Amino acid sequence: MKIMVSACLLGENCKYSGGSNRNQKVIDYVSGHEVFPVCPEVMGGLSIPRPPAEIVGGKVINNQGVSVDGEFRRGAQAALEIAVREGINLAILQSRSPSCGVHEIYDGTFSGKRIPGQGVFARLLTEHGFAVMDAEDLK
Ligand code: SF4
Repeated sequence: MKIMVSACLLGENCKYSGGSNRNQKVIDYVSGHEVFPVCPEVMGGLSIPRPPAEIVGGKVINNQGVSVDGEFRRGAQAALEIAVREGINLAILQSRSPSCGVHEIYDGTFSGKRIPGQGVFARLLTEHGFAVMDAEDLK
């Protein structure tokens, strides 16, 4: 199976904080499969580290009040193109990220409050018919 994975889940230090979301369950699950790690935020040109961002009224804004919507969408599009070209069977994505969140995101107030919704990349993959799984869905 061809599986696209949020790179931070595999231990890549591409999070906004400069750290990773290394997840052993995900690493074990994808073992033996063809794995395509992507970080749409870095692919969109954002640096590591970078200010945290949330989706505010449909646009991605960082906690300094600066729009990073263009970078988020550019990176999501670039990662989508890999998914299409490779014909991935599944994407496993990091929970609650404004790019990768599958079921929930933060509400745009930078207060830690969660709401139902998808990150920019998860939504784009879903709209293009790809199977998308949240890392926390792995039992
Ligand atoms: S954009 Fe996705 S892959 Fe990159 S650090 Fe955020 S959650 Fe991880």
